Amino acid sequence: MMMKYYIKTFGCQMNERDSEKIESILQESGFEKSNLKEADVIIVNSCAVREKSEKKIFSEIGRIKNINKKAKVVAMGCVAQIYPEKLSKISDVVLGTTSIYDFKNFFNKDLRDFKAIFVSNQIINPDYIFGHLKKPTAYIDIIYGCNNFCTYCVVPYTRLREISRSYKNILQEINNVVENGAKEVILLGQNVNSYNFDGVNFIRLLEMINKIDKLKRIRFVTSHPKDFSEDLAIAMSQLDKVCEHLHLPLQSGSDRVLRLMRRKYTFKEFAKKVEYFRKYNPKGSITSDIIVGFPMETEDDFKQTIKALEEIKFDEIYSFKYSNRPFAKASLMPNQVSDEEKAKRLNIIQNLQSKISEQINKSYLNSEHEVLIESKAKISNQMQARTRTNKIVNIDNTYFNLKEGDIVNVKITKINKHSFNGEICIN
Ligand code: SAH
Ligand code: SF4
Repeated sequence: MMMKYYIKTFGCQMNERDSEKIESILQESGFEKSNLKEADVIIVNSCAVREKSEKKIFSEIGRIKNINKKAKVVAMGCVAQIYPEKLSKISDVVLGTTSIYDFKNFFNKDLRDFKAIFVSNQIINPDYIFGHLKKPTAYIDIIYGCNNFCTYCVVPYTRLREISRSYKNILQEINNVVENGAKEVILLGQNVNSYNFDGVNFIRLLEMINKIDKLKRIRFVTSHPKDFSEDLAIAMSQLDKVCEHLHLPLQSGSDRVLRLMRRKYTFKEFAKKVEYFRKYNPKGSITSDIIVGFPMETEDDFKQTIKALEEIKFDEIYSFKYSNRPFAKASLMPNQVSDEEKAKRLNIIQNLQSKISEQINKSYLNSEHEVLIESKAKISNQMQARTRTNKIVNIDNTYFNLKEGDIVNVKITKINKHSFNGEICIN
């Protein structure tokens, strides 16, 4: 009988990619995906970016053990990297972010001696090319780790120092996924703009990837504002496969708070980067991240964030209440903002952003866009697709035969809160 696995992933795209690596290792060993109840191996991939996300791995493992007592449990990801001992008490294998290659060498079908802790102080074999599942969009790691040490952030401790992967291996990996049917890649890194391998920088890397024949689209996350340049804005407009969407995390509109966060830019400098992007990519979209209630954030600082959102007009923001993190300097700062006040501020900016997003999205009505079909939509007979500007479009497929990976032109016919409806343009 085939052995089975179940995997649960919390957190960012890097975690999703790491989970996919584990799935490909398991599948190569003859395991198949199943539900929680029937699994022989259960993997939980954890996120440590906020306190609330960190707690999830503990409650998830508790839940799992209630439903399936016999399965072996692997606790992996960012929480595993910083708290291996704590997790080894409730799981069989602890797997840090550094050690997926070690897990590959360790893993086999015989689960009798399935007990180990894999955590290292450096990433093991960062160049290794792990497998991918068959999908229209493939995540590709290009740079691991982070050297920025923003004072609120745990990531430099969970993902360690920056290390770029060899461009030869990146190109090889992209060729592999494209041969397997992928049409789009999303290049991943905490700070993709600081990619550098043997003198090849991020722009050179994009130029190389842009030449891959069967590949149709290139996206990337995340750009640190301090490293986003006019040259990159130009490259984005000139390289036909690079999509016109930029995720540029602002965090706060107050220069005082930005300094306390150690973000290394002022609001004015940030606005200049947005101006570059829009100058060369006038139809492009910009999204951002905002933290409210950073220690010592006054009412006036918060007003600066509101002003910044009104001025820049992002297409969408991901906004968070500040959360104290282990190792991160800000957790030692005085004048922590109360949870009640943070909730109030979060609510204010989310309401403001809804209005701004609604305004921007309205301008899409009746316009035509190229979309990539990603999957079946929740509503039957509909497919879910994405514009180059990262907007989700649901398309009625009753009279068509659209498949995952198809690229078609659609006319936007309806604007919903988090997606559009579109009709195929027949030329
Ligand atoms: N490397 C990326 C993303 C890192 S984490 C970058 O620099 O942008 C993703 C987002 O989580 C951050 O942009 C930030 O807005 C948020 N975040 C990180 N640490 C946080 C904390 N301690 N409390 C609340 N939000 C946090
Ligand atoms: Fe965290 Fe800052 Fe690094 Fe992003 S750049 S991962 S926010 S330390």
